[in-house]
Amino acid sequence: MNKSPISVSINRRSYTTRDNILGITGVLRLDLKLLTPLHVGFGKLKIMKIRPELISIIAKKPFNVAIREAVNVLGYDYMETVRYGDKICIPGSSVKGVIRSRTELMALSQDNINDFCFIVVTPFRGVPQKGMHGWRHFIIWDPAVYELRDSCNPIQTGDYSLCSGCDIFGAPGVASRVFFGNFCTSNPNVVDYLDLDFGEKLEVIKANTVLAGEISFHGLKLSELGVLLIGLGWCPKINDFKPILMGKSKYRTRIIQNKNIKIILGRAKFTAKSMTILMEYLTPDIRNEVPEIKDEVKGEELKQLFNKAVDKAAKEYPSLAKRICFSEVEVLEECIKKGLIS
Ligand SMILES: [Zn+2]
Repeated sequence: MNKSPISVSINRRSYTTRDNILGITGVLRLDLKLLTPLHVGFGKLKIMKIRPELISIIAKKPFNVAIREAVNVLGYDYMETVRYGDKICIPGSSVKGVIRSRTELMALSQDNINDFCFIVVTPFRGVPQKGMHGWRHFIIWDPAVYELRDSCNPIQTGDYSLCSGCDIFGAPGVASRVFFGNFCTSNPNVVDYLDLDFGEKLEVIKANTVLAGEISFHGLKLSELGVLLIGLGWCPKINDFKPILMGKSKYRTRIIQNKNIKIILGRAKFTAKSMTILMEYLTPDIRNEVPEIKDEVKGEELKQLFNKAVDKAAKEYPSLAKRICFSEVEVLEECIKKGLIS
């Protein structure tokens, strides 16, 4: 079906001042369980000497021959996973990028108005043909990818009214109110080395690894906490988080070279452990809406709090209401079954 881009205007409101800590201020502790191997790195290729014994042989040859043969000494090492000290991690900035782009793509305009701009997501530049860069992304996130949305840029425009996403997660010149820590494990035995198709060599974190991390926030409304939770994949219907995609090659099946084995990368799912809330900053409104809120929330009470926050977000942000419980992993699997994506 041929579809056309849709003109969309962004619903912007005056932004929440960054010194405001009245509202929900605290820390959410999460585990991120990898359902498949996953690679998040800094994208740097590491060059290494793979045949150092050739150096002295090549060095004796005439210059024009030596130049030609010098390349045989070098190869690429595996693209590394991120390490901080002795921990293996997914950087908080990467997790934030994924969660933020999910909220932008899950938001669908109602009557050509959207509560979320495209600031992380690349705006529509034409429909990519099958095989072109981004074509799988386009199928999975249809119809949001057809929306022509601009991005908030108060530094450039001088207009500090922001969309709901930028008011929560920040925009040029406006700090975020949500801070993603790194998701890490101190177990050193969680990495694997894959030789993949197209000659790509990746160091990955193995499936079933659990990485622990924290997200802190200040001055959130209950609905804004709901937006964060929707981004993280919280689904009130199942009282749990849905799996999400992140990292390299998340949309396409790769092949392990020489073994001809297919491998899927980039699927993960959050679990909430606990939330600490600074009670002195809670407003009477929030205390009324969530009377059970306390300084340390966990277990069933935490799930109930999540459900209330997501319900509130659905009411306050009509753009998100239809896509709560959306999982791109489920859509991807459906597309693979139908043969739309391989
Ligand atoms: Zn925005």
